[in-house]
Amino acid sequence: MAAELAKYQRVLIDQDTCISCGACVAACPYQALELDENGKARLIWEMCKDDFSCVAVCPVKCIYKVSEAPAELKGKKGWYRFGKALSPEEQKAYEEWKAKFGVTAPPV
Ligand code: SF4
Ligand code: SF4
Repeated sequence: MAAELAKYQRVLIDQDTCISCGACVAACPYQALELDENGKARLIWEMCKDDFSCVAVCPVKCIYKVSEAPAELKGKKGWYRFGKALSPEEQKAYEEWKAKFGVTAPPV
C-alpha cells in the first residue's frame, strides 16, 4: 500500500484562485477532493491516483500536477489533508513525496 502511494505525484490547489465551483470534486473518480470549511477545494492526500481529471475541468486552472505547480504555492497551507492516520510506511511515502516535489506546506 505504501509502495503504491509513493507512485503518485498528486495535485496542488491554489485556494486563493479557486472559485468554489465544485467541478473538480464531481470529476474525481477516487473521492480525493472535497470543499473545505471555506468552500475551497482540498486534496485528500492518500486518495489521489493521478488521473488528473480535476486539472482538466477546473474553469480557473488553479489545480496543477504537483510537478508543474509554481514553487510559491508548494509552501502555502490549506490545500491538502490526510483522510486517515498514516501507517509508518505511509508516513515514509509522504515524506518522500514532500522531498521529491519540494512541498513544504504541512497538511491541515
Ligand atoms: S488527479 Fe485524479 S485522483 Fe487525484 S484529485 Fe485529481 S481527479 Fe482525483
Ligand atoms: S474546479 Fe477549480 S475552481 Fe472549481 S472547486 Fe475545483 S479547484 Fe475550485
